[in-house]
Amino acid sequence: MSAGLAVSTPELEGWHHIYSGKVRDLYVPASDAAHAATSEVLLVVASDRISAFDHVLEPPITGKGAVLTALSRWWFSRLDLPNHLLDDGSHAAAFANVPPVPADVAPRAMVTKRLDMFPIECVVRGALTGSGYAEYRETGAVCGITLPAGLSDGDLLDEPIYTPAYKAPLGEHDENITFERSVELVGPEVAAQLRDASVKIFTTARDIAAQRGVLLADTKFEFGRDPHTGELTLADEVLTSDSSRYWDAHAYQTGTTPAERLASFDKQIVRDWLSTN
Ligand code: ATP
Ligand code: MG
Repeated sequence: MSAGLAVSTPELEGWHHIYSGKVRDLYVPASDAAHAATSEVLLVVASDRISAFDHVLEPPITGKGAVLTALSRWWFSRLDLPNHLLDDGSHAAAFANVPPVPADVAPRAMVTKRLDMFPIECVVRGALTGSGYAEYRETGAVCGITLPAGLSDGDLLDEPIYTPAYKAPLGEHDENITFERSVELVGPEVAAQLRDASVKIFTTARDIAAQRGVLLADTKFEFGRDPHTGELTLADEVLTSDSSRYWDAHAYQTGTTPAERLASFDKQIVRDWLSTN
């Protein structure tokens, strides 16, 4: 990883900045600065930046980073799968030598295990919309999965489908790929593990959200490998309103226009504005 976006990234006492994605700033302990690439600990700080269609927009949204971080933590604690958090109370020993996280960023920060990330965005769709719907309209399929004819924007699918994307290097657009292409990228065993874990988490999360009147339409996971144990581990953010589409289940059932039905709790409003302007 190298320094990415040209955004102003605050210096953090005790930590060394190594990378900025569109939304997150990554740091390693200052004592690891000389060998940052092999540091075992990564501080992931969610900024208030908002991105859509792989562009960072202005202005930032105050409080967004803290909300996304709280959402990720809430979901991590409910999912029965190894995740990258070191600061959730279950890794006291590993956590002992980690520098304190400065109080002003603490609500936006997660101390994590640095993983060897797979270059795949593991997208699961329970409904057809966005880039999936666009691809379906052109080809009748999404990421190589043929769907029944006649589906409309926002229709629920009988079974959730796994539609991976290749995680493009900084500055390039992520690209929808077939499962076969993901096999070429990470091998058959890992590709199947990523698919099966993603669909399982999606199903669990969809059911939890449904109990709260929220429809999880689709979401994206990122996984890495624990460099010590080799274990497949859930990383990054999870099931946030940046990485997922959430709809109001009541409006979905009772709405009469597409806009009413797909009333959302995510950043669709920003994508819609960008598309029309
Ligand atoms: P890009 O990195 O291409 O800008 P992005 O906009 O999604 O994509 P951010 O979410 O802003 O990136 O930055 C988070 C980065 O940190 C991602 O590249 C993600 O893959 C990486 N990451 C998250 N958790 C871990 C982890 N535990 N170990 C290593 N890398 C991680
Ligand atoms: Mg991201």
